[in-house]
Amino acid sequence: MRAPDRALKNAGPASNRTASGGRPSRDEAEEAVRTLLRWAGDDPAREGLLDTPSRVVRSYEEFFSGYAEDPVEILKRTFKEVEGYDEMVVLKDIRFESHCEHHVAPIIGTAHVGYLPKSRVVGISKLARIVEIYARRLQIQEKLTAQIANTLQDVLDPKGVAVVVDAAHQCMTTRGIHKPGVTMVTSRMLGLFRSNPSTRREFLAIIGTPSDRLQNV
Ligand SMILES: [Zn+2]
Repeated sequence: MRAPDRALKNAGPASNRTASGGRPSRDEAEEAVRTLLRWAGDDPAREGLLDTPSRVVRSYEEFFSGYAEDPVEILKRTFKEVEGYDEMVVLKDIRFESHCEHHVAPIIGTAHVGYLPKSRVVGISKLARIVEIYARRLQIQEKLTAQIANTLQDVLDPKGVAVVVDAAHQCMTTRGIHKPGVTMVTSRMLGLFRSNPSTRREFLAIIGTPSDRLQNV
């Protein structure tokens, strides 16, 4: 379940934003869906499947809308300078839906995000937006976790950032080894959350995740 190291090297905020080779047209995308329907063994020309390619393409627009948005820009636009506020900010149980980059199967879970401000804070709804934007791209959970944490660290420059992601992967539950009910918990701790055990413990107590479940990325 560990991420290969090369995946984490690409975990910077803007790393997977652009497709290479130009974007295909909508017609080309719909034709590709017809090909997959034929590959599955069905007939794309039968009545029940006639509108399926356009529906699938529209679904992809929604599932992968995160490529068109830049979390760094959103945070840069919205942070406030507030000298002296130094309490931990935590937003927990942020539900997200993503798709694994290996099978394009859903990853459904929750993210918990915390930081210790130095001088900049951001509205908590923006923390949820950052999770959503990265989730709406093809992902592995380790990369998603690292991207959220690294972006907050880079833009807000806080004393520390903690991100814990707890998710079920449908590529594990509905195919392959078929293990329903299994979730993976990944975490990335930066700054004081990494260096100070009591800060980390406080965060983990708030989100209700025992530290022995964490897989650090
Ligand atoms: Zn997968």
